[in-house]
Order: sequence, then C-alpha cells, then structure tokens
Amino acid sequence: MVAGRTPRVRGRTRGRRLVIPIALPLLDEDEANAAREAVLSGWVSQGPQVAAFEREFAALVDAPFACAVSNCTTALHLALTAINIAPGDEVITASHSFIATANCIRYCGATPVFVDIDPETYNIDPARVAEAITPRTRAILAIHQMGMPCDLSALVALAKRHDLVLIEDAACAAGSEIRIDEQWDRIGKPHGDVACFSFHPRKVITTGEGGMLTTSHAALEGKFKLLRQHGMSVPDTVRHGSAQVIFENYVLVGYNYRMTDMQAAVGRKQLLKLPDIVARRRAVASHYAELLGNIEGLRLPFEPDWARSNWQSYCVRLPDRVDQRDVMQKLLDQGIATRRGIMCSHREKPYADEKRLHDLRQSELAQDHAILLPIYAQMTEESVVRVADSLRAIVQ
Ligand SMILES: *Cc1c(COP(=O)(O)O)cnc(C)c1O
Repeated sequence: MVAGRTPRVRGRTRGRRLVIPIALPLLDEDEANAAREAVLSGWVSQGPQVAAFEREFAALVDAPFACAVSNCTTALHLALTAINIAPGDEVITASHSFIATANCIRYCGATPVFVDIDPETYNIDPARVAEAITPRTRAILAIHQMGMPCDLSALVALAKRHDLVLIEDAACAAGSEIRIDEQWDRIGKPHGDVACFSFHPRKVITTGEGGMLTTSHAALEGKFKLLRQHGMSVPDTVRHGSAQVIFENYVLVGYNYRMTDMQAAVGRKQLLKLPDIVARRRAVASHYAELLGNIEGLRLPFEPDWARSNWQSYCVRLPDRVDQRDVMQKLLDQGIATRRGIMCSHREKPYADEKRLHDLRQSELAQDHAILLPIYAQMTEESVVRVADSLRAIVQ
C-alpha cells in the first residue's frame, strides 16, 4: 500500500454539508487490481485465492486452520452445525448483539439463552453465563462486541469446567488482541473452539461480503470444508487438478457457503493493510478519549488492561439528562452520522418470547443510551475534532 493514499470520499452531502460517515472501508487500487486479476484468471469461485487467503489469515492470527465462507452469519451457522447443535440444546449468548448471533442458534433449532452484559465493556458477563448453565447447555457463543475482546480467560475456564463448546463471534474483531497467559494474541488464535469473523464493509477489513472460521481442531476444520460445499467429498480444485477421473460423492447435507476468488483476492490485500488500519483506528480512539474525557456524565468505552480493541466501533454512553434520538438528530443536522447502541435481540419479534433467567437491564440501557461515533482509518484529525466539539456542545 502507498502510505497516505486514501480512496476518494464521494461527496455525500446533506443539504450543503459534507457528511462525516459512521464508517468507511479503506479500499484502493490494490484491491481493485487484485479483483481484476482474479476475474481475468478465469477461476472466479472458491479456488486458489480462497486457499491463499485462508493460509494468510491463519498465519496472521496464529491459528492452525482457517476456512473462508460467504459471510459471518454462515460461519456461525457452520460452527454450530459442525458441533451438532440441535433442537433441545441451549446455547448461552448475549442478546446485546447483531441479530445474526441469535439467528444462527435458531437455524439449528436450538434455544438461545440470553444473558446480560458488563456495562463497562458491552461484553457478555461471565458471572451471568455461569448462572445460566443447565443440563441442556451445549455451548457458549461469546461476542467480541464492537471489536473489544470479551473476557475469554473466564469463559474458557467456565467452558472447560462444564464441558461446553466455546464459540467466539469475532465478526467485528479482526486485528483485536487479548493478553492470555502473559502473552498478547490476536483474536482468532484458538482459545475457544471456533472463532468466526466477518468481512462486511462495516467491519475493519472487507471483501464486500465474507467470513472466516478459525480452529485448532482438525476434525472441525474438515467438517467446515465439507459443509460449506454441499457435503462434497472432493473439492473442485482437486478435481480440476487431477490427471485421473475422480467421481465425487456427497457425504452429508451441506450448504453453499463458498467465498469467491474475487473476494479472497481483495481480502488478501486487506490483510496486508490490517495492522495499519488498526493503528489508525486506535489513534482516532485515543484522540476521542482525549477530547471527550471531561464531559460530565458521558462514559467513554473501557478497554481492560488485557485487551486491545481494533475499535471497529467507538461507543459512548450518553449522560442521563439527554435524549439519544435528539442527540443523534442534532449531530446529523450538522452532517455527522452516528448509530444508536448495539441492538438487543430479545426486543425483536422472533425472540420476544424467549425465556430468560434474569432481566437484561444493562443490555437495554446500552441500546437506549449509547451512541456510536464515526470512526474509520482515513478519518482526519479535523473530523475527529468536529465530532467531539459538536457532541460536547449538544450534551453539555
Ligand atoms: C456483523 C456481525 C455479524 C454478521 O456478519 P455478516 O458477515 O454480515 O454475516 C454477526 N455478529 C456480529 C456481532 C456482527 O457484528
């Protein structure tokens, strides 16, 4: 990548003001050329680019295995399917997440058991998870929400003690790090059993749509690769490369969850940029912290000393005296896009009747009183100051 080269920001205007977007992917000629080469290679579905992307992703996060898929929702579905989650099983997770987290449990016919979050980190509270374990519990689906690592040490210990599978919804967490056993690891190095990533444009690196599973279990890796391609015993790449005629068979009911080679080619370029993207996002986050530190009642995101967020989102909890929608509208009127706090699945129709062990008060408060501020790698210092000044003027 050429340092300092940024993509054109299309003049998205509201009235006559340039809008500071909530997010912006960092894509340039590198990705455009990579996609072009993949197209011209003649191999456009899952092929050599996907295989290379998997190897490079595995190396980056220090995972023995990585399997690319069409998005993180399908990654989560494969993770749960591969460990045979079925009707009657309970999977403990947070309601406070994008709805795909809960949906993938329902795809398997299983029951999501929602527990509350820690209001400081917006991540699942391990003490609440412990309370929710029953004889039907098969797995914990923990989220690294907004890129902030959740308390994996506590969750790994809990999963071991109760013989549960630990799956990480790491959709937002490519490039985030966690300190475990006195060592910093990237999220995706298998501490739990499976970690699932997203490459949607709203995350820190993107392939348009895309997902990745990492694991240290060879048996699970084998299942992911079967399940993502119709349960087909011989992948296309092997059949095409063989001098012998090969007849494939279909050993289980699989899916078509493949990533394309165009996407993987883009993803490989994004991986090269990931350390720089994360460094730039961290700079924006510290700048926000500096500028917003002394507004009464405004709570900044908390990064535990064992966590390094990739700052997929920058979430602030508004003072009780202000109204969330009103603050967001006033910012939008000034050309600044924001989003409200992460949604709660239990407040949406498909999950409204789900039984709950305790109320989900912290999750609801976070949805109703937090807002996400613009953050992206190419955000200028001037824009950060503009957002901070506007927010201060509105909430003070
Ligand atoms: C974005 C997101 C997903 C879904 O990812 P897709 O790649 O869009 O399917 C799942 N879980 C969380 C926490 C997310 O933020």
